[in-house]
Amino acid sequence: MKVFYTKVALNTYLDTHKKNKQIGFIPTMGALHEGHLSLLKKCNEENDISVVSIFVNPTQFDNPADLLKYPKTFQDDTKILESAQCDVLFAPDVKEIYAENITATSFDFEGLEHEMEGRFRIGHFDGVGTVVKRLFEIVAPNKAYFGEKDFQQLQIVKKMTQKQQLPLEVKGCNIHRAKNGLAMSSRNSRLTKAHLKAAPFIFKTLQKVKMKFETEAPNTIIEWVEKEFEKQSLLTLEYFTIADEKTLKNIKNKDEKTQYRAFIAVFAGEIRLIDNIQI
Ligand code: AMP
Repeated sequence: MKVFYTKVALNTYLDTHKKNKQIGFIPTMGALHEGHLSLLKKCNEENDISVVSIFVNPTQFDNPADLLKYPKTFQDDTKILESAQCDVLFAPDVKEIYAENITATSFDFEGLEHEMEGRFRIGHFDGVGTVVKRLFEIVAPNKAYFGEKDFQQLQIVKKMTQKQQLPLEVKGCNIHRAKNGLAMSSRNSRLTKAHLKAAPFIFKTLQKVKMKFETEAPNTIIEWVEKEFEKQSLLTLEYFTIADEKTLKNIKNKDEKTQYRAFIAVFAGEIRLIDNIQI
């Protein structure tokens, strides 16, 4: 695996090696786990050269403490990527991406940015749009892979790619879960033992929501979820919603032709966890 820290070094390498080759790209913030590796597996199957980036993007953090405490495990990440057949790791520092101007561009994602995470993490998706666009321009991949774990982010990146006519395909990948159902996340490593034990309740609840959605009204389900979390001493519900997968707008009346998804954000102590399920 080649490791590059600068755009120039990465581009010099890719320019000489990419002729007639498909480049697949996976942007990450490091602290890699099996969820990231499931994206890499798909990327390896569909491309000749897999590029993974590790960059903890300051402009997408609405909470400075969260940015400071974001897990950083670069040495381990390198080993993990090497053994998972990653071809190229791009690990720029903040200056390489932002020069002296660490600010986000403002994007219009046609309303997708105002729902769910957008309500609770002000400016988050401008930060995501800014860094993803910059990374796409640097790496110039044919395909890029994003997890459905961050479903709203996936839809927003697809929207940006389409609106700005960026020449690549954005592909969504299934959520990778621990055996107990907990969606894998870099933030899980910061959970206390007790919170780690409590957290699988999130996906268990989503599975019940999926069953209930066949027969019960959305509002009844929302009230039920809120009550279920009130009984949990270690988990605090931030939001639960059922929304149209395409527009991400809250469901009003169930419509047979629309594909819905349930979305949830929960605090386990100071760690914020998100998850979702197609219903
Ligand atoms: P992150 O490092 O958290 O920014 O994640 C990098 C990419 O990996 C994003 O596209 C995430 O959606 C994806 N990802 C993170 N966790 C999972 C998971 N458990 N299953 C599938 N994809 C994931």
